[in-house]
Amino acid sequence: MIGIEASPTAQLMGALITSALYVATYLSFVRLLRFPRNWCPPSVPASLATGLLAALTVTLVSLSPDGIDRPALVLSAGFVVVLFFIIAAPAIAFQPASRPIEFLAKHGDTAGLWLLGPALLAGLAIPNIKLQAVLATAMAIELSWFLRQRWAGQRLYHLNDHDLSVLETQAKGDLVAFRRHHGIRELVLSKGAVSWRGCGKRTPPCPFNLYVNRLGLNTAPCCRAHIEDLSHYVAACLSEMGVVHWLEGGSLLGAVRERGALLDWEDDVDISVLLDDDMSWERLAAGLTECGARDGYYVDLFENKGLVSISFDAPKRWPFRWERNRLRGEIRADIAIYRQAISHGEAVLERRSHKGAMPATESGGYGVPREIVLPTSTVPFLGGDFSCPNETEAYLAMLYGDFNKIEYTYVDAGPAKARARIDTTGDTPVR
Ligand SMILES: [Zn+2]
Repeated sequence: MIGIEASPTAQLMGALITSALYVATYLSFVRLLRFPRNWCPPSVPASLATGLLAALTVTLVSLSPDGIDRPALVLSAGFVVVLFFIIAAPAIAFQPASRPIEFLAKHGDTAGLWLLGPALLAGLAIPNIKLQAVLATAMAIELSWFLRQRWAGQRLYHLNDHDLSVLETQAKGDLVAFRRHHGIRELVLSKGAVSWRGCGKRTPPCPFNLYVNRLGLNTAPCCRAHIEDLSHYVAACLSEMGVVHWLEGGSLLGAVRERGALLDWEDDVDISVLLDDDMSWERLAAGLTECGARDGYYVDLFENKGLVSISFDAPKRWPFRWERNRLRGEIRADIAIYRQAISHGEAVLERRSHKGAMPATESGGYGVPREIVLPTSTVPFLGGDFSCPNETEAYLAMLYGDFNKIEYTYVDAGPAKARARIDTTGDTPVR
């Protein structure tokens, strides 16, 4: 290349600054992934900040004393786009996603490292120290992520007869092929015995968005235990804070239809809270954040959606805190916010986000008649007494219509049909 050469010190400084900018872009991006994980559209300021950081990184890489280094510009931009697409796949796959995204999500711990070869070739082909610094930093982060996702310290869980019969049905009897085809690493098949390598508080969670919601398996025994723990924990926090709350959605359905147990395919904890003059959003958010920090649960706040999510995994220290958004699953309690309102002349409790078949309100939210919920009552659930709506059956009927009829909302047609044969015997749903 003809032109003015920058001094070695200036080159080194340039490399360090670009490398730091890449790290900032990466952290900003993984933080942004909290939105798709929680089924929310990404916030505009957060998206703009990430986009700006990415643009700055790429611009700095391609700036040279001679002007713009075009090959470095194209390569760094292409590299960041491809790598970030890979990184985002597990979060996007929280909702049913296309096959390529599901595939990348399935390999979310290693897929970033697939770019190691291309990064090496690009670094050798283009003698741009800033580009080399970005590629090396990105690959070092991917290697560190990969190493931290290794399975360690997990215990084996026994699968009960019902879990096993659902698994065998969905696998059409061939567990080995099923395990391989869907990459179910947790499934341990050894000398005719079937067990489950369980997730824990400090391990990656089972990706049961796929296993439960797509393949139609029962919730894994480890996840079931953690969902129970989280249900008790969140209800205790809310009671301690004096918040009016009640079991919602699938949790309430389990309490009523399954006589106090979780649905077999439960994938989260649903609890709703009522905000009023005594309990503002700020107070609730501060109280739950404090509880989570004290007891080791991850708390995330989505004020615009009226949602607090509390996850079972222990919060990590900065800068690793937001990397959890790269995980393929999580065990989470969704706490939906309700407020008192009047809709069509009737007193209702209103929420912002859609839930089941809850009717729309005059102001564009969704609401349930106040007397169905208040004053709250209690229902036996998971071995304890949980706060619930005053009229549980009326509440469930508003959400699900005939709630005694089993429906598999997210399960693909084939697996849904297969498990319907197991779950229904006559009119009585069995667990
Ligand atoms: Zn698990």
